[in-house]
Parts: sequence; C-alpha cells; structure tokens
Amino acid sequence: MLGRTLQEVSAALKQGQITPVELCQKCLSLIKKTKFLNAYITISEEVALKQAEESEKRYKKGHSLGALDGIPVAVKDNFSTSGIETTCASNMLKGYVPPYNATVVQRLLDQGAVLMGKTNLDEFAMGSGSTDGVFGPVKNPWSYSKQYREKRKQKSHGENEDSNWLITGGSSGGSAAAVSAFTCFAALGSDTGGSTRNPAAHCGIVGFKPSYGLVSRHGLIPLVNSMDVPGILTRCVDDAATVLGVLAGHDPKDSTTIQDPGKPFMLSSLTDVSKLCIGIPKEYLVPELSSEVRSFWSKAANLFESEGAKVIEVSLPHTSYSIVCYHVLCTSEVASNMARFDGLEYGHRCDIDVSTEAMYAATRREGFNDVVRGRILAGNFFLLKENYANYFIKAQKVRRLIANDFVNVFNSGVDVLLTPTTLSEAVPYLEFIKEDNRTRSAQDDIFTQAVNMAGLPAVSVPVALSNQGLPVGLQFIGRAFCDQQLLTVAKWFEKQVQFPVIHLQELMDDCSSVFEIEKLASVSLKQ
Ligand code: GLN
Repeated sequence: MLGRTLQEVSAALKQGQITPVELCQKCLSLIKKTKFLNAYITISEEVALKQAEESEKRYKKGHSLGALDGIPVAVKDNFSTSGIETTCASNMLKGYVPPYNATVVQRLLDQGAVLMGKTNLDEFAMGSGSTDGVFGPVKNPWSYSKQYREKRKQKSHGENEDSNWLITGGSSGGSAAAVSAFTCFAALGSDTGGSTRNPAAHCGIVGFKPSYGLVSRHGLIPLVNSMDVPGILTRCVDDAATVLGVLAGHDPKDSTTIQDPGKPFMLSSLTDVSKLCIGIPKEYLVPELSSEVRSFWSKAANLFESEGAKVIEVSLPHTSYSIVCYHVLCTSEVASNMARFDGLEYGHRCDIDVSTEAMYAATRREGFNDVVRGRILAGNFFLLKENYANYFIKAQKVRRLIANDFVNVFNSGVDVLLTPTTLSEAVPYLEFIKEDNRTRSAQDDIFTQAVNMAGLPAVSVPVALSNQGLPVGLQFIGRAFCDQQLLTVAKWFEKQVQFPVIHLQELMDDCSSVFEIEKLASVSLKQ
C-alpha cells in the first residue's frame, strides 16, 4: 500500500481497502523504524492521527474532500505549521511554534491530507547536502538499498559499511528521504537554487519546482524572496501534478502569485512526441559532469529523437556567469532577510545584556551556524554603499541576461530543455564534507539555480541507476507558467525509462511487520 501512487491509494481509501487511520499508522511506524535516516525533525503523531480520524469520518459518510483526503504527507521544516514547531534546522528558531499555517500547508490540509511531520534540511535551506542543519545530516535511503549494497559488496574489501552512507542532497533532503523511504506519499520542499530537484535526483524520486508565482510563498520562511518557490517531491510525475493542482493559484497573502484561480492539473498521456522540440543547452556540458550522467543525458536525447521529437542543440550564452550571479543575489537577500533575527523581534535571544549591540552579536552567533553567518557577511559586503553598484546592481543585470537567454531559446521554438540535474550520483557523507558549503553549492547548483533566477518551472525525473546502483536524475525546464506541458513531457519520459523501485532490503528486514515484502518488491511506479 505504501508504494502506491496517489491515485491508487486514494482509490483504495474510497473502496475501503484501507482506512485513513490504518494508513497513517503504517506510515508512523515506518517513520519510527527509519528514524536513523534523520529525515524528520518533528513527527506530528497526535495531529496526524487526529487528522486521519477526521478523514475516516468523511470517508464513512461518503464525503471525502478530494485527491489528498487521508493521504500522509510531510512538510519541510521551513514552512510554518500552526501549533507545530518550525525550526529551519536552526538554533535561532528552535522552540518556535507558529500561530498560522503557510498557505501551501493550509491547502494540503483543506484537501484532507494528513501531516506526518516536519522534515530535516540544511539550516535555513542553505546547502546542497542536508548535512548542515542543527539536527544533523540526513541519510539517503539508497545507502541501504539492495541495489547499492550489492554493488558495494563486489567492491569493498571489509570496509565499514555503516560509515559509507550517502548524502541525500539538499536542502530538502529530509523530504526527499521521507518520500523515497515510503514514509509518506508526497512532501513539500522549497527550491531557491535547486533544493527540491537536487535531493530528488539523489534519492530517485520526482522533484518539481513550479513557475515562480504559481504557488504561494506565504508562510515559507524566506531564503531569497525573488527566487524561493515551494517544491513538490513525489514518487511519480502524476503525483506531482496532483499536488500542484492543490497548491497552485492566487493567494492574497502573496502578492507575487498570479491572479488565475488554481485548477486541478490532470496530465494527459502523451503518445506522440513528434511535435515536440527538445533543446539541449550546450553550455551544460561541463568538464565536471560525470561520464555516466553525460551518457544518460545523451541517451535521453536520443530517446526523444528516435520517437520523432525534434532535438536540437541550443545556446544559453550567459550560463557561465550564473553561479556567481546567484551567489551575489542569494547572499544579498539572505543578509536582508536574516536581519529580523536580532533577539528582539524573532527567535532565540542570548543572556548577555551589557549592551544592545553585544546582545545582537551573541544572539546571532549562538543562533546561526557558520554557513548562515558567512552568507550574511558576504551579502552585507555586496550591499555596502561602495559595493552596491558593482555587485548587487550588476548581478541583477546579469540575472536579466540569464533570464533572457531562456526567453530567446523558447521563442525560437523550443518547448522544453533537457539537462542533467546534478554532476554525479549521491556521494558518501564523509566525502561530501571534505569541502565547505560554499564550494559544494557552487558545484551542486550548477544546473539548477539559473532556472530560479529566470522563474521557470523545472522538474527532475529519475532516469536510471548508475554503475554503483545509485539513482541519476535528469532535469526538464519549461516555459514560464507552462508547468502542465512540462509535466506532461516528464510523464512521457518517466514511462519510457521505467526507473527501478528502490529495494530497501535492510529497512525491510527491520520493518517486516510494516512492509509486506512481496508487495513492495512488486510495486511499480508505472502501474
Ligand atoms: N544550494 C543552494 C544554496 O545553498 C540551494 C538553496 C535552495 O534551493 N534552498 O543556496
């Protein structure tokens, strides 16, 4: 049951094959059994069971609320949740219990979704590994998969298996791990520079970043207001579309949302791709790209071509400036956003009271980790009066050029761009932490952040397993507000590639009471 698609599980609930409370309990016990993944910061057990009971009453009366009624979901811990602690994985917000729900959370609940808990992340969503939060790193469920373990056995010679676990990617790694390990059916992430797509690629699931303005940011604790978008993590493209249908639409509390009322996104099944034009941006072929990812990328392009689509090489000429430009704009907005955490208005306050300045300084030292403090410092440097024109204004101009590159390509007739999501598959934690957060992000955001600067929709779809038995994802980028078209293409692709289901042998051994092994092994996302 836990491996089913949203549509299937919803049908099972309607037919009474399982009740919302039973489903919730199954997920709860799996969450507890997989605690070592560190995917959840808060498990909202009581709330979830209550919501499931309410849902059960509705089903009994035959008045279910919609596609998500009774469905277990998880939410990244940078979305405000009424009555449930919201920490951003930071000492600054530990113990903070918001009095309201983020609009996206409210929309999920209005549809009857059951909130299992709040998921782990890099502090304030700054990072690409989910290794830099105050609650510790998230472990990639694929570290414990049969597919990866078997490949490792052949290679490792008595190495300590347990120290070799892999990162999930980030910063929405908790959400990605939660979905990948079947502890919920969908999760919210956030995506400012790639934080939904990157962990989705590493965890073998779908990670969708909607067009900027399609989904409300109200209640998402901001990182970079001009780029932040709530992201959707699911096990298949159809599920992402279902969740998008629930989330999308105007919100009076977020003036950057479009005026169109939200409507369900039903994806048609493309059978003919011959009218499609797929663009392959040549600047994305960087030397750091692993040969395996490169080969999957070109195989995917060939697949479209062999099915009749037009596949052309295109140029996004300002791509090489993108990472630096993102860095300047990101840190500048971070410096401004984080100013509110001063010990007076919001968050943690230290005990020092010799002077206001000393209180500010100590509060921020205790409250923020090195990564956040580093970004605040960099951002304030770029915003200094003498630097403002040379850095912040210039970066804004470059951002426009980068956005125009995409506009030009789409105006030339390209429907969707196809790129890698990440340079390689997930790496072991011990390797990942050899480099600092900034160096890591500069590499890991390479294919993802330009889309945020341009406000475009993009989705990472798992394509195949690498030689090591680990997932590789590819990214599709669409025209602004053509999210439905983008997902339709992604769905076609997903169907062609038949990405394998994760075999969580270790977890299953441990959770035999929860997992009916044969069932899980036979689960296919494409049923
Ligand atoms: N790696 C990016 C950063 O650290 C991702 C940010 C995000 O999307 N939340 O800025």
